[in-house]
Amino acid sequence: MFDSYLRESIIGRAIKDKKIKILFYNPRDFIKAPKNNYKPVDDKPYGGGPGMVMRAEPILKAVQAIYKKLQATSYKLKTIIFSTSGKKFTTKYAKTSAKKYTDIILISGRYEGIDARVQKILRAEEISIGDYVLTGGELPAMVLIDSISRQIPGVLGKYESLEEERVSSSEVYTRPEVLKYKNKNYKVPKVLLSGNHKKIEEWKKRVDKNYEIE
Ligand code: SAM
Repeated sequence: MFDSYLRESIIGRAIKDKKIKILFYNPRDFIKAPKNNYKPVDDKPYGGGPGMVMRAEPILKAVQAIYKKLQATSYKLKTIIFSTSGKKFTTKYAKTSAKKYTDIILISGRYEGIDARVQKILRAEEISIGDYVLTGGELPAMVLIDSISRQIPGVLGKYESLEEERVSSSEVYTRPEVLKYKNKNYKVPKVLLSGNHKKIEEWKKRVDKNYEIE
């Protein structure tokens, strides 16, 4: 999905010139294959509802692998998780990110989204690229890669830099019920296990309302 875009134009050149480096981690590579070799990265949502939810463990393992790789370098890391109800991505955000961080982990969702404990454990920031629902987080990831990269000194050519200056401008859970991570237990909210649909609906509304948009 990313190959053709990242080979082209400014971003392609930035990668070639080693101004930026993009690595990919597939959560499927971080699950033990059962006998039939089918590797599920998703499971049914607690509390009911349509679709499937991406499981926490494969993603957390993938992130652990990234941390391991980064250990050898001095880095300032930001972790972003894509969500339709996240903080709205802006150019200002891109500029700040390019200045503040050396490395950014972008976690792309699929299906109905990612088990909310991933965001809590990693203290990741939920980011949305706009008020519409895409099939997955790959396009948002490309949007951020593009937008943040162009804020990195030397990525844009002289003419492009001038143009740049001129035109300045929801919680889900799946199995396990108790997720053990670094000696801590992360539980699914009790209400989602209650089978009380009215209470579950109220809880869902409350969680959404509490969300603050910048
Ligand atoms: N019912 C889910 C919701 O409303 O959040 C839809 C999930 S969407 C089909 C699957 C994934 O795509 C999301 O978990 C998120 O990672 C990504 N995604 C979709 N639209 C997005 C947007 N506008 N901004 C950021 N990420 C988005």
